[in-house]
Amino acid sequence: MSKHSMGLSKILTASITVVGLGVLTSATAVAAGPDGPDELFSPFEGDAVEVHQLDMQKIVIEERGQHIAVPPPQPDLSLLGDVDNFAAQPSADPDKPSELPDHLIQIGEVVQYKDVALGLQQVSPYPTDAYAEKPGNEYPRKHTVFLNFNGGVLIKGADNSAINKSSLARHNEMYPGYGGSEANALAKIQAVTEDLSPLGVRVMYASRPNQTVPYTMCMIGGSWTDTTIDSPAGGVAPGTDCEARGQRHVVYAFGDSASSTISQEIAHAWGLDHILGFDMIMSYQGSGNKDFASECRTLCEEQCQGPGTIGCRLTHEKYCGVGSEEQWDYEELGFIFGTNEEDTEPPSVAFISPEDGAMLDAGSDVSVQVDVSDNYGGYGWKFTIAQDGEVVFDEVDYDRAATWALNKLPAGVYDLTIEAEDHNDHITTKTITIYVGTEAPATTGDSDSGDSDSGASDGGTSDGTASAGDDDDDDDDASAGSSEGTDTAIDTMGDDKGCGCHASSSRTGGTATLALLAGLMLFRRRRS
Ligand SMILES: [Zn+2]
Repeated sequence: MSKHSMGLSKILTASITVVGLGVLTSATAVAAGPDGPDELFSPFEGDAVEVHQLDMQKIVIEERGQHIAVPPPQPDLSLLGDVDNFAAQPSADPDKPSELPDHLIQIGEVVQYKDVALGLQQVSPYPTDAYAEKPGNEYPRKHTVFLNFNGGVLIKGADNSAINKSSLARHNEMYPGYGGSEANALAKIQAVTEDLSPLGVRVMYASRPNQTVPYTMCMIGGSWTDTTIDSPAGGVAPGTDCEARGQRHVVYAFGDSASSTISQEIAHAWGLDHILGFDMIMSYQGSGNKDFASECRTLCEEQCQGPGTIGCRLTHEKYCGVGSEEQWDYEELGFIFGTNEEDTEPPSVAFISPEDGAMLDAGSDVSVQVDVSDNYGGYGWKFTIAQDGEVVFDEVDYDRAATWALNKLPAGVYDLTIEAEDHNDHITTKTITIYVGTEAPATTGDSDSGDSDSGASDGGTSDGTASAGDDDDDDDDASAGSSEGTDTAIDTMGDDKGCGCHASSSRTGGTATLALLAGLMLFRRRRS
C-alpha cells in the first residue's frame, strides 16, 4: 500500500531470490576450475608506491591547508529511528543504470573480476614479495570492522574505508543510513561481534576508527540500487580478495539484513566464497544463528551463483587440499587475523632519515624514510609535517611506502611526525625537527624529546597544531619521551573513544558492553 510495504516487499523479494537459488537447484557437481588459466594475479595488493613525492613549495605556500586529511563524521546510533519507520527511508531510483567498473561483473550476489569469471585469470594464493615486504601487511594481522549504520556520502574508486571510497559506490551520492531502530542495530552488532570473536578482529560501531588504522567498513541499510550493481541482492562485497590483501574494504548489507548476511559480506571481502550448509554464515541456506565453518565444507559455485565465481579456489585449496572444492572458513580467517588474544604491544616508529636536527639550505630536497613495525600486522601510520608550528601536511600513508621525498623545501623549522596505530588503540608517535634555511637553536640536546603521545583526539579536528608537545588532553599515560624513539605509546581507552564503542569481548570493558547489549536484546522487536 504505502512506501512502507513496498520497500519491505522489495527486500523480501531480494532475499527470497537469493535463497531460492540455493534451494531450487540440487547439488550439482561443480566442474573443476577453468583449464589452464596460468596467469595468476593479485588484484588487491595496491599500487607499488615506493616514494611519495611531495612538492613542498606547493604544500607549504600555494596549497597551504589543503593537504590535511579530514576524516568522515563520527557515527551516532541515537539518530536511528523507530523500527516502525524502517522501510520509510529514501532509496535510490531503481531505474538507475548499473555503473559497475568495467573490470567487474555481477554474478548473482557476487561481484567478480571479469577475467576470473571468464576463466582467463586466477587469483594467486600467495602475495607477491613486494606486497609481503611492506610493513603492516604481515600475517597474522589484527583488524577492525566498522559497522556503519548512519550512511554517508561515498565516492567511487578502489576501496578505502577511511575516506568512504568504494569500488561499488555511486559516486558522490548519499548512502542512506539504517532504517531500523538503535536496539535492532545493537542486536546485529552483538551477533556480528560473536561471529568474529574467535579472531583477532574487533568490531566498532559507536565511534569510527582513526583513518590511520586499516579497517573493513560495512554499510548497513540502503538497497542494492544505492550501489552500482545491476540486480537485486541481499548484500554485496568486492569480489575475490583472497586472504585479504587489501585492508580497507567497503561492503554492503542491504535493508534489514540478518546479522549472518553482514558477517558473510564482510568475510567475502576477506576472500571467503560461498559454501553449502544451513548453519553456515557463508551459505545462502538456512537462517538464524549461523557460524563460520570450523572444518572443510563444500563450496557452492554453480548452484549458488554460477560457474567461475569461486574466485579464491587456489587459496581454499591451501587449507582443504587441491581439488577438494571445499573451504575451511575459520582456518583461512585465522591465518589472516590470528586469534583473539589481546594485543598489548604498541607499534614502534623510527626515522631512518633525515637525522633529527638536520640543517638544510632553503629550497633543498630531503628524503624522509621511516621504519614502522609492530608485533602483529595490520597497523597503519600517518605522516604529519608542521612548519614553524603549523601543520601543513597530515596524510595517512595508505600505500605503505614509508618514504617521502620532500622537494623544494621553503625556509622554516619543520617538525616531522610519524604516528602509528594498531588495533588495540596503541598510538606511537615520533617527531624529529629539521631546520631549513635557518639555524638550529644553540642547545639542541633536548631536541629529540619529540616522542609525544598526541592523544587520540583525532576525530575530525585538523586544527593546525599537532606538533610535538601539543598534547592536549592526555590524562593518565605516564611515560612519554623515551629518547630511543620507540614505543612511546598510549592506550586511548578512557579517552574520547572509550569503551562502549568497541564490542570486542577481548577488551577491557567488553563484558559490560555485552551485558548492555544483552539487556537491549530483550527489547528487540521481533521481525518475522
Ligand atoms: Zn554472499
